[in-house]
Amino acid sequence: MTRLCGWVIRKARVGRVLILEVCGNNTKPYVLALREDRDRDLFHIAERLDVGSALCFEGDLAPLQRSKRGVEYSVSKIEVYAKPIEPLPVDISGKVPTLLDTRIKYRWLLARNPVEKALFKIRAGVLKAARKYLEDNGFIEVNTPKIVAAGAEGGATLFKLQYFEREAYLSQSPQLYKQMLISSFERVYEITPYFRAEKFNTTRHLNESWGIDVEQGFINSLEDVLETAEKLVVYIVDYVRLNYKEELEVLGVDLPKLSTPFKRLKFTEAVEILRSEGVEVSETEDLSDVAERKLGEVMAEKKHYLYFITGFPWSSTGFYYMREEDGVYTRKFDLDYMGLEIASGGQREHRYEKLVEAIREKGLNPENFEFYLEAFKYGLPPHGGFGMGVERLIMKMLNLENIREAILFVRDRTRLIP
Ligand code: ATP
Ligand code: MG
Repeated sequence: MTRLCGWVIRKARVGRVLILEVCGNNTKPYVLALREDRDRDLFHIAERLDVGSALCFEGDLAPLQRSKRGVEYSVSKIEVYAKPIEPLPVDISGKVPTLLDTRIKYRWLLARNPVEKALFKIRAGVLKAARKYLEDNGFIEVNTPKIVAAGAEGGATLFKLQYFEREAYLSQSPQLYKQMLISSFERVYEITPYFRAEKFNTTRHLNESWGIDVEQGFINSLEDVLETAEKLVVYIVDYVRLNYKEELEVLGVDLPKLSTPFKRLKFTEAVEILRSEGVEVSETEDLSDVAERKLGEVMAEKKHYLYFITGFPWSSTGFYYMREEDGVYTRKFDLDYMGLEIASGGQREHRYEKLVEAIREKGLNPENFEFYLEAFKYGLPPHGGFGMGVERLIMKMLNLENIREAILFVRDRTRLIP
């Protein structure tokens, strides 16, 4: 005998049998089939229940599994915990497609439905897998402040807030803090929100998104960081493939197995490829959205679904990336997944003098970064890392069209509630 709980997502009568579909934390519903003649008392309880009711039941797996939609139980007891006070504003059964706008508004309620439930269980699985991989490879989880005095990239993209008598910002990245921690930890990671104040209007940007942020000390070259990034992604995808089969099936997603190494493409090579495809690209700027997508198509033809673009020009990067001797290119990389950037990272500048110079060259004031710069005075080893967008990764893994589908509560240009 087991006791299971959930919400009625569908109620149907077939002749003298009443069928309740109940969804809890499981992905596929529990199917309760009650016969008017045999289960008289339970039948009458169930008959009065509306879709949306919260209940627990006691029962056993039915010997005969007739339902294709879920797992059938023979029920011996039903306890009703809560009834809806009015009809639900959305169709929970998933029979009627819901507009994205409504889905975003009612995610917390729609997650009773197997499809939405599957999505967020996989999201939890992605985070679980990331933690597992990083923990198993010697990374220590840290938490750094989200209220900060200075940003990693400077002012315009930060949300301002009043911090007592001073001005502060919401952190757009743990970049500076995780680097500082490489003065006492060999390897760290943080699963963290990123707050970005740009007035985005795209299908791939949120104003509050989540990142898996990694920093690794004692590296010999950028290659050490690229290996961590690719192994992490492969581990996550494998973990989801193996442990979320039912959820992938519900979502109709066939997640292919990935293998390493991912293709490494120099930024200059990417520029050449794009120009030969007739796309206008600058040699000194970051790749545009159009260029990223086109490159994704070209790479997909060669079966490179995930690939690194390495060696971005200094003119396009943050001050903290290590520059090559030529001063023009850096050890910054992007990791793209079928035409979408899912991570950025690189080898950092760990030499104090060079770092101060880099801050000045980017037109920033080293005095504002004193707290950060101090960490570079006492033996900070060569290091590198990356920030990987959780929603972007999920979007690509599950073929979602809009990044808003990958997060429970959306923060974008127009949404501050729920
Ligand atoms: P983009 O150029 O695509 O706007 P970015 O280069 O500004 O992104 P990074 O600062 O490199 O972003 O952040 C690291 C990763 O975090 C990105 O590769 C992306 O996966 C994710 N990310 C950053 N900003 C956002 C955002 N506004 N919404 C969703 N994900 C984001
Ligand atoms: Mg980036």
